Amino acid sequence: MPAEIISGKQVAEEMREEFKEEIEKLKKEHGITPGLAVVLVGEDPASQVYVKNKKIACEKVGINSIEHRLPADYPEDKLIELIESLNKDDKVHGILVQLPLPKHISEVKVLYTILPEKDVDGFHPVNVGKLMIGEADFLPCTPAGIQQLLIRSGTKIEGAEVVVVGRSNIVGKPIANILLQKSDGANATVTICHTRTKDMPSHTKRADILIVAAGKPKAVTANMVKKGAVVIDVGVNRLESGLCGDVDFEAVKEVAAKITPVPGGVGPMTITMLLKNTIKAAKLRIN
Ligand code: NAP
Repeated sequence: MPAEIISGKQVAEEMREEFKEEIEKLKKEHGITPGLAVVLVGEDPASQVYVKNKKIACEKVGINSIEHRLPADYPEDKLIELIESLNKDDKVHGILVQLPLPKHISEVKVLYTILPEKDVDGFHPVNVGKLMIGEADFLPCTPAGIQQLLIRSGTKIEGAEVVVVGRSNIVGKPIANILLQKSDGANATVTICHTRTKDMPSHTKRADILIVAAGKPKAVTANMVKKGAVVIDVGVNRLESGLCGDVDFEAVKEVAAKITPVPGGVGPMTITMLLKNTIKAAKLRIN
């Protein structure tokens, strides 16, 4: 029997409905409208689409979206000044700087300037460290979205053998860390594979939950997957034939019990978790 499809689109819609209620409550009981400042430097077409989608998503749930679109040659020191002013702005609960930045600007310098309590992307080293010790305020958006997909699709995470393909700072390492925590929706046994892993199929074939974030089309094929596994495909590859993930979807869906599609799987969850983090940042301000 082909795998059940885990629809990120559907889970994202459910969660966004829940957010509307939370935001209404925040407005009524505390007079707070969560605000997200999004900073875009340059004219990268993909980044422009991401920023536009974030604005639309914010508006739909009732988050105030504040956009700063800056020219590609905007000086680094001016950008730092802008972030410092957003740090001080009470109406701004979350700050997101769209990556990649133009070459003359240090991403590290810019991201480290964002106050950890406004770092809704979860990339600041303070937030990375807090995740490590199980004290996270903001989980990075894509990994947090993956965890929600697993929980809301009824996948048993506790005690599961999880194999993550990819060790990037934005997906591979944080999802491994999240699912390793001694907490609900976690408690898994986690293995991370990368390009230096010897005999990758020997690992992936053991996985009850296989999470693939390699950035390589069809990096995972059916013979690398255990029968009945849950497969989460994070990859987004733009080919001439269209968008595809890192998993050979058509073949793997015949082996797996559940699988996410591309598009419509992990993708819609990333913005959803950004909205969630912005609401959380606003709530933390109350406390
Ligand atoms: P990345 O920084 O390029 O990292 C890729 C990782 O995969 C690296 O650790 C690399 O190993 C490993 N890898 C590559 N090919 C492999 C192979 N054949 N076997 C084993 N490991 C392999 O990528 P990323 O930023 O994590 O993103 C991964 C994918 O997810 C991309 O397609 C990206 O577009 C997508 N993505 C989607 C979303 C979303 O919202 N849907 C968000 C973020 C990323 P080494 O470390 O050894 O080089």
